[in-house]
Amino acid sequence: MEYYSSQISKLIEELSRLPGIGSKSAQRLAFHLINMPKEQVEQLASTMVEARSNVRYCRECQNLTDQELCPICANENRDHKTIMVVENTRDLAAYEKTGKYDGVYHVLHGAISPMLGIGPGDIRLKELMQRLQGDVDEVIIATNSSLEGETTAMYISKLIKPSGIKVSRIASGVPVGGDLEYIDEVTLLRALEGRTEL
Ligand code: ZN
Repeated sequence: MEYYSSQISKLIEELSRLPGIGSKSAQRLAFHLINMPKEQVEQLASTMVEARSNVRYCRECQNLTDQELCPICANENRDHKTIMVVENTRDLAAYEKTGKYDGVYHVLHGAISPMLGIGPGDIRLKELMQRLQGDVDEVIIATNSSLEGETTAMYISKLIKPSGIKVSRIASGVPVGGDLEYIDEVTLLRALEGRTEL
């Protein structure tokens, strides 16, 4: 049974593909869009298309950027010999919000998960190893304390160890399974300062 015009049904269907949007939210959003001024909808649509086509991965750290290098990698005042490895850009943003870390990052865009069939080749690990050919003093592994995060940390540390570069892991004051982005800044700083060498 069709309740709505096919255009609305299609809009609801497209919206419900977004993460965290169930069919009810999709309906609410669809009706909201229909009632918005046409120019606003056009603005929203073009912003989405432009962001999708211009945003890419930073050549150095794989952070999202619209330049070749992200603002962090392009900043000469940052310590480029200290690399913090995070699972995603949200975790990077969480550490940046503390304003206390002056090194650079490496964004893996995922974590190793044998259960989900995600192996080392599926995350941006090769790019990290290439960066380590340069002048690097320390790699701080700040993956989540979930099973996947720990597996990834272990794998990376084993990979880097033979190179003689110092490898450390943030302290486990971070709750198990806790996503880094939801943890307050004080806890993040404590985890960073209390990091231990692997
Ligand atoms: Zn970068």
